[in-house]
Amino acid sequence: MGQHMFEFDEQLAQAVFAYCRDRLTHPVPLDFGGLAVEELPDLQGLINHHGNNPEEILAFFKDRIAAHVISCDSPGFLAFIPNAPTKNSLLFDMVVACSGLNGTSWLESAGAVVLENQALEFLADQAGLPAHAGGAFVSGGSMGNLSSLTVGRDIGRAKRPEFAPHQVRFAVSQDAHSSIGKSLHVLGIEALVVECDDHRFTRARLEAAMANDPLADNVVGVVATAGTTNAGIVDDLEGLGTFARENDLWYHVDGAYGGAALFSPSQRHLFSGMRHADSFIVDPHKWLYAPLDCCALLYRNPTTARKILAQQAGYLDVLHDNEDENYEWNPSDFAIHLSRRARGLAFWFSLVTNGVGAYEDAVEASIDITNRAAALIKEMDYLELVRPASLSIVLFRRLGWDAERYGAWSQQLLRDQIAFVTPTKWEGETVARLAFLHPDTSEELVVRILESMRD
Ligand SMILES: *Cc1c(COP(=O)(O)O)cnc(C)c1O
Repeated sequence: MGQHMFEFDEQLAQAVFAYCRDRLTHPVPLDFGGLAVEELPDLQGLINHHGNNPEEILAFFKDRIAAHVISCDSPGFLAFIPNAPTKNSLLFDMVVACSGLNGTSWLESAGAVVLENQALEFLADQAGLPAHAGGAFVSGGSMGNLSSLTVGRDIGRAKRPEFAPHQVRFAVSQDAHSSIGKSLHVLGIEALVVECDDHRFTRARLEAAMANDPLADNVVGVVATAGTTNAGIVDDLEGLGTFARENDLWYHVDGAYGGAALFSPSQRHLFSGMRHADSFIVDPHKWLYAPLDCCALLYRNPTTARKILAQQAGYLDVLHDNEDENYEWNPSDFAIHLSRRARGLAFWFSLVTNGVGAYEDAVEASIDITNRAAALIKEMDYLELVRPASLSIVLFRRLGWDAERYGAWSQQLLRDQIAFVTPTKWEGETVARLAFLHPDTSEELVVRILESMRD
């Protein structure tokens, strides 16, 4: 089979297209995760010298493997942050895949870059950033945060030469996403962790923390969260942003999950302070209905970011040697990456074909089902809201349950293929959490989930 490796196999193509059509036209099953390799003896010896019949291997994947992945794009997936790619985004991702589209540089991929940039410009505009803002699509929020904080750190270091490079710090709230802590760890710097009231990072709290910290002069930036992952809380973006402006600090807004609520007419006012951001991220693979893996990373001043992050090498000089200013737009220059697929195109195609109105409706519908879920919880005497629903997340407790009970309940729901709902921790207590964004998650399903906690 090896000698045919580069030939088109019509029969296989038909089988693959049929499989894809099937996935696209049927409701997405929830399915199961967790699989012991011992359960799959057929896996043995698959990698061999001569290869295998591709249709048999496709069938093996379809029949034995596919159901061992919990579909995060199933309407019953309400754990972590779900994913609900539009059909158009999935279809266009197939176009990107089959075209082998490279999205690294202007020289190689101007066509793809122009389209990705159109989507990025639109997001920047929604966030209130100036027209010259820009960046790139990266693999996820974690990479977006790391790239942003790298730029913020370097700018901050340059402004505060009196401190040793590892001494500069970012002010972050105790509820910042885990990837912020990990980014600082990679950067070899520390955080000034600010304790907040009701988990919302505010200007007043930041000012107090800075005033009480004798080393506060080494703080070079502030990280705000536009929608915490655990609870959907939007920080005081306006207050933190103006504080950062007044004190010449880098202002990073992590909207990986919640930034999508810029599309929500009812929530958008919470995000007006984003206009102060030096860097901002939002994951289209979360609440903007694009397939994994896709994060929009935007800088107020992309040229500064490029100076810090662009990779330089003799063989890469041709990517940067040109007088034309557009020519310089290499997505690879704006993050810690080089080669990249044109991962923003699936989102671009979906946005362009469905229209902004459809996005607004979908995001608003998620907020609506979230509020209905909260109302149902209030009505049930064995349940209690932990705090008011925020954006599309509800935290609630089942009176009398301990961590073990929540765990067993979560597993049973999955075993019954009703839903995937995982508990979380809130102020040390194990509680239940629902994260909504799938347009097909029904109130009926929510009732079923809540009823399952009755005994
Ligand atoms: C999900 C999330 C991240 C991390 O994004 P990935 O795409 O999973 O890497 C960062 N910040 C927030 C607020 C998130 O919700």
